[in-house]
Amino acid sequence: MEFELNAYGKVNLGLDVLRKREDGYHEVKMIMQTVKVFDRLTFSDIQEDKIELSSNLSFLPVNKDNLVYRACDMIKKEYGILSGVKIHLDKHIPVAAGMAGGSTDAAAALVGMNKLFGLKISQDKLMEYGVKLGADVPYCIMRGTALSEGIGEVLTKLPPMPRCYILIAKPPISVSTKMVYENLHADRLSYHPDIDGMIDALRAGSLKGITDRMGNVLETVTVERYPIIEDIKRRMLDDGAMNALMSGSGPTVFGIYEDEEKARSTMKELRYKKLAKQAFVVLPFNTDFNR
Ligand code: ATP
Repeated sequence: MEFELNAYGKVNLGLDVLRKREDGYHEVKMIMQTVKVFDRLTFSDIQEDKIELSSNLSFLPVNKDNLVYRACDMIKKEYGILSGVKIHLDKHIPVAAGMAGGSTDAAAALVGMNKLFGLKISQDKLMEYGVKLGADVPYCIMRGTALSEGIGEVLTKLPPMPRCYILIAKPPISVSTKMVYENLHADRLSYHPDIDGMIDALRAGSLKGITDRMGNVLETVTVERYPIIEDIKRRMLDDGAMNALMSGSGPTVFGIYEDEEKARSTMKELRYKKLAKQAFVVLPFNTDFNR
């Protein structure tokens, strides 16, 4: 049996950190939105009892340091599977960028293993396995527009974001998620995005209501250290974006546009000025794995 699954990336329309827990984790309140930037995973079953992973990116690990490998290993062990799996991971989602690339690949691997071996695991159970691999993995199984609370694993589905064009731009720098959270002073934040107001705007189907409330408290750490993030935001806002924001812990920036042409011309300019290495104009994506 051989088949392919797409693993979609996400942006955070809103990202708030409520507090740092005693165990070191941060309690978050985020609005997640799946976007049509995706990795493609090709699955096939093999006789031999092993996990054979390959990728188009030579710098990515293909052993247990890759979340895809870990997801497959977990399912193999849980269900006593004695044959093997071969997976090719074709990556397009920027790596270490704040778009949950690794988490969504892990989500696709869980769904793929379920299908490949006919395990009939429910989505809820897959999400329980997912959280052991990473806080964003359950969301990546659910997909669409969602409120994410706790450490990211308490999910509430929300109405889909209204149609718009999303310009995604990753500057040519790397930012470690760990560094960002370590340098965040959750108790000293002077501003918190209006997440509840954004939920109301989603319910009302108001794109402007959503974009007016976009905010990410992690920018307090990254923008100071990496001014290129602010430069990209400024360029998007000057070029007709309704709003622009860093996604997750960055450094990816996204801008929301009503006008596709404006989004495309900003994309070209960002590339030309070398402010972004990877840039795409995409639509929000709200289809789950079952369809
Ligand atoms: P998040 O938005 O959840 O913070 P991210 O976009 O910042 O995620 P990822 O692209 O998921 O970060 O990956 C960060 C690190 O995880 C990489 O440096 C990479 O070595 C490792 N990694 C493990 N598995 C994967 C994978 N399947 N794809 C990408 N990176 C992976």
